[in-house]
Amino acid sequence: MAKKIIVLAEAKNNELRNVSFEAIAAAKELADGGEVTAVLAGEAIASLGEQLFQYGADRVIVVEHPELANYTTDAYKQAYLQVFDKENPDIVVLGHTSVGKDLSPRLAVKLDGALFSDVVAIEAGDTPVFTRPIYSGKAFEKRKAVEEGPYIVTIRPNNIAALAKEESASGEVETHSVDIQDLRAIVKDVVKKATGGVDLSEANIIVAGGRGVKSADGFKPLQELADLLGGAVGASRGACDAEYCDYSLQIGQTGKVVTPDLYIAVGLSGAIQHLAGMSNSKVIVAINKDPEAPIFEVADYGIVGDLFEVVPLLTEELKAV
Ligand code: FAD
Repeated sequence: MAKKIIVLAEAKNNELRNVSFEAIAAAKELADGGEVTAVLAGEAIASLGEQLFQYGADRVIVVEHPELANYTTDAYKQAYLQVFDKENPDIVVLGHTSVGKDLSPRLAVKLDGALFSDVVAIEAGDTPVFTRPIYSGKAFEKRKAVEEGPYIVTIRPNNIAALAKEESASGEVETHSVDIQDLRAIVKDVVKKATGGVDLSEANIIVAGGRGVKSADGFKPLQELADLLGGAVGASRGACDAEYCDYSLQIGQTGKVVTPDLYIAVGLSGAIQHLAGMSNSKVIVAINKDPEAPIFEVADYGIVGDLFEVVPLLTEELKAV
């Protein structure tokens, strides 16, 4: 049966996040011929709306308000609930990002609907089945939607492929005005760190370093390799604890969960808490001087050797390709 679906798109630094396009693809599967409406909230973001048509949205609604300039749970919840009141969606799909994780349970409660979170695969149908990793990725659970809706689905970035971009697709971006009031917390200031490059949680290629890199400078060859491959640098908690890099790079149970196409683990042992954040990567390459390191148990390819020799050699070889 055709379903009416709303996708909550997300933008960061005035760019739409890739997971928004993946959420549209997931919504298309679930919609069964029904309408997929992408909703983008923020301040002065209307110019981004058009792109959502190119990735398959049937309608695009932009919600602009000064209180939406920076994410706060309260303001975004109020804005989205006003859109839901008008649109009456059967299903709401959004990314399993820090925003998605924060908002989705609250929206589900308000809609009095189920929440299917951290979904990595969908079997569409009248009562769809959602696959999600459990026990830190050691098992997968399938949950079935027993009601037609409304319910909320968050999808893990990098698991459900976005539809191919159709440059010629376009449409009229609708605007929806919202009334936001009685906020319990507001953002006074945002102090940005001087980081750039590829977003770790959405990167297709990650080069992650562990305590084996031995210093902040030891991360430089990893950064060079990541830049060459168009990827991002990540880290184990061992490397963060040793102050070789910032905690924002930490991958694992208490860090970011990533599922890139290629994960190159360099000088990290592969502790269970680290595996929890990366073992679902599509291809894992491990570089470690200890042949007994547990990371080799999950690796598709392993190089036993000194990372300070292997990484520069790999970079040189790849430069020559
Ligand atoms: P180590 O275990 O010290 O491994 C370093 C590796 O580098 C070794 O295998 C060594 O053989 C190799 N090496 C050394 N020199 C070289 C060289 N020259 N060339 C090649 N290889 C070399 N950890 C996380 O990563 N993420 C988490 O989210 C996380 N959450 C945690 C939550 C809890 C509650 C707890 C208790 C722990 C958590 N940890 C987490 C920590 C985790 O248990 C490990 O301590 C940590 O992952 C180890 O980091 P590491 O692999 O970099 O260091």
